[in-house]
Amino acid sequence: MAAGRHSKKEVAEALRGLPDHFIVVATDAGHRWGYVECTVCGDRLSIWSTPRSPGNHAKDIARFAARHEHPERKKKTEQEKEGGS
Ligand SMILES: [Zn+2]
Repeated sequence: MAAGRHSKKEVAEALRGLPDHFIVVATDAGHRWGYVECTVCGDRLSIWSTPRSPGNHAKDIARFAARHEHPERKKKTEQEKEGGS
């Protein structure tokens, strides 16, 4: 996880809850806080510093994560950590 925390609680929590195959990059350039990148396919979602509705923006992030679950990869990861908690 990148350093830097989003000032909106809902957004910060949505970012924190992302699975390991997402990276959060805080660029902090104006109204664009940064982005979330799916390391499996390289798709990105922009994160805004001051979203009109933090709750909706958190949902955007959750939806992006749901769209990029990449279950095949997940299964592989689970096999790799076999026996781990
Ligand atoms: Zn993806």
